[in-house]
Amino acid sequence: MSKQRFLLHTCCAPCSIAIVDELKSNYDLTVFFYNPNIHPEEEYLKRKKEVVRVCEEWNVPMVDMDYEVEKWNDAVKGLEKEPEGGARCSKCFAMRLKHAAEYAGKNGFDIYSTSLTSGRNKKADIICPLGVSFGEKYGVEFHCEDWKKGGRQEKGKKMIEDRDIYRQDYCGCVYSKAGKV
Ligand code: SF4
Repeated sequence: MSKQRFLLHTCCAPCSIAIVDELKSNYDLTVFFYNPNIHPEEEYLKRKKEVVRVCEEWNVPMVDMDYEVEKWNDAVKGLEKEPEGGARCSKCFAMRLKHAAEYAGKNGFDIYSTSLTSGRNKKADIICPLGVSFGEKYGVEFHCEDWKKGGRQEKGKKMIEDRDIYRQDYCGCVYSKAGKV
């Protein structure tokens, strides 16, 4: 029996390496990189390069979407002063999940998910309902998992240290860079 096709939205290599390692054996896995929130562009390219390295190591295909900064700025307009975990982050999660779900639905994937729940301040109970709702809209099942759990954080930390993978010290957007959230 052929494996189910799984699209994993990844925010960065440190958050996703242990997940990619776990999923690649059980699914026909594709990594999906869509993160127009990352600022500045130099940082975006740095994080993307490390995701490419992870994918190349295990020969996992990667979909590299456009860096739609203007669209992201429009999506969070008026929410610039929100704290991490607030309304700006929900818009940011929604934008990335919508694109992943849409791509998965249009390209015949069975399941999709996101590495976002790996982030120490990112709550699965905010991210998963968004994932489910976009999954229903585009006809693809959302795999809800709190990837922080199950020893994956420790495993991921060791894996990125072994490979000397770049680990950022802020979430991604210009506001998180200013506040180092
Ligand atoms: S803090 Fe992180 S999740 Fe929140 S809006 Fe900025 S990049 Fe997105």
